[in-house]
Amino acid sequence: MSDTSVSIAGNILDVEKIRKDFPILSQSVRGKPLIYLDNAATTQKPISVIERVHNFDAKEYGTVRRGTYKLSEQATELYEGARQKVADFMGAEKKGEVVFTSGTTQAINLVAHSFGKRFVNEGDEIIISNIEHHANTVPWQVLCEERGARLKVIPVDDEGELVMEEYEKLLSPKTRMVAVNHVSNALGTINPVKEITQKAHAVGARVLIDGAQSSAHMKLDVRDIDCDFYTFSGHKMYAPSGVGGVYGKMDVWEEMPPYVTGGDMIMQVTLEKTTYAKPPARFEAGTPPITQVIGLGAAIDYLNGIGMDKIADYENALLEYGTRLFKEIEGVRIIGNARSKASIISFFSDSAHPHDMVHFLDQDGIACRGGHHCAQPTMIRYGVPATTRASMAFYNKPEELDALAESVKKCVQFFS
Ligand code: PLP
Repeated sequence: MSDTSVSIAGNILDVEKIRKDFPILSQSVRGKPLIYLDNAATTQKPISVIERVHNFDAKEYGTVRRGTYKLSEQATELYEGARQKVADFMGAEKKGEVVFTSGTTQAINLVAHSFGKRFVNEGDEIIISNIEHHANTVPWQVLCEERGARLKVIPVDDEGELVMEEYEKLLSPKTRMVAVNHVSNALGTINPVKEITQKAHAVGARVLIDGAQSSAHMKLDVRDIDCDFYTFSGHKMYAPSGVGGVYGKMDVWEEMPPYVTGGDMIMQVTLEKTTYAKPPARFEAGTPPITQVIGLGAAIDYLNGIGMDKIADYENALLEYGTRLFKEIEGVRIIGNARSKASIISFFSDSAHPHDMVHFLDQDGIACRGGHHCAQPTMIRYGVPATTRASMAFYNKPEELDALAESVKKCVQFFS
C-alpha cells in the first residue's frame, strides 16, 4: 500500500473500526476475504440498523397512523420521527415535504405521473440527460407518449460531463421539467445540479434531481440546490431495501393529484366522491414499509455519527487512489473521467468482456458489477456494450483497491 493510501486510511476515518460495524464484511468468499465494491447497486448494513430493525419487529411493531392504542401510537411516533430525520438529513424545510416510497424508481414514477397529469400537456417539453439511469428515463418517455410532450436530452462530452451550453439551448418556455441525476451511477459524474436548477427555473420549469447515487456520499442541501424534487433509495444508504422517497417543495406537492389511491391518502370517502389528504399522506396510500422506515432512520443516525463531510472526503481520497491504480493498468480504460466525480470507477477492457471480468474477480472474492448498469443510452454514447464498475463506500480500504487492480491485471492477461 502506498503512502497516500496510508494517509487516507489514517487521517480521515478509522476504517478498521468502521468495518467492525458491518458484520457481512468479515466473511470470506471462495476462500478469500470478501471485497465488496458494488455499493452503487446496494450497500451493506451496519449492526445498529440490523438491531434497530430486529428490535422494532420484536418489541415495538404496530401499524401507523391508524391505531389509538399504545403500540400503534408509538410506531407512528417512530415513523414520523424517521421522516423528520430524513428531512433534516436532506436540508428540507418541513418534514411533510418528504414522501416515503419504495425507492427512487417509485419516487420518479410518482412525480412523472402526478406532476405530468397536472402540468404536462401536448407540445410541452421534458429534459433529461444522456447519463440517466433507466429509472429517470423510462417514466419520462412514457409520460411524453401519453401527453403528447417531447423528450429532449442533454448531451454528454467524452469525459462524462454534461454539455451545459447545449443544455441552455434545450431550455425554452415549453420546458415543464428538467430531470437529471446528482451522480451518474454508470460513470460517477457529479452533475452541477444547482446551476442546472437555476437555469431551469429561469424559464419556469421544475426540476427533479435523482439522488439515488448521491444521498449516502455527500452532504445534501435541497434548499441550497433549490430543486423542486429530490429522490433517494434507502438500500443505497445503509438502510433496509423496500424504502426510499422523494423530497418535494410543499407548494408543488399541494398542487399535485395522488398517484396511487386507496387507504390512508384520503380526507373523506363517500360512494359519490373522495377528497384527498394533504401531502405527504396524499402520496402514501396503503400501509407503508413501517419497519424499513424505522431502519432508514437508524441508518441516518449512523451516517450522521460519522459525518457526511468526512465520508465524502474519505471516498474522494479512495477514488483518487483507485483512479491512479487503474490508469497504470495496460489494456483497461476508465469510462467517465469528469472533473467532479463520486467514488465510482467504471472501466472497459477490449480483451475481457465485463461479464467475464466480474466472474474472474469473483474468484478472488471481489464483488463488482458488470453490465449496462440500467443506463443503456450511456453505454451507447461511449460505444461499449457494458462496463465493469467498482463503486466504493467509506468501509472500503485502499488495500482492497490494490487487490482489485491486481485481479483486473490478471484477468486482462488471461483473456489477451
Ligand atoms: N437512479 C440511479 C442513478 C440509480 O443508480 C438507481 C439504482 O441503481 C436508481 C435510480 C433506481 O434506484 P432503485 O432501484 O433503488 O429504485
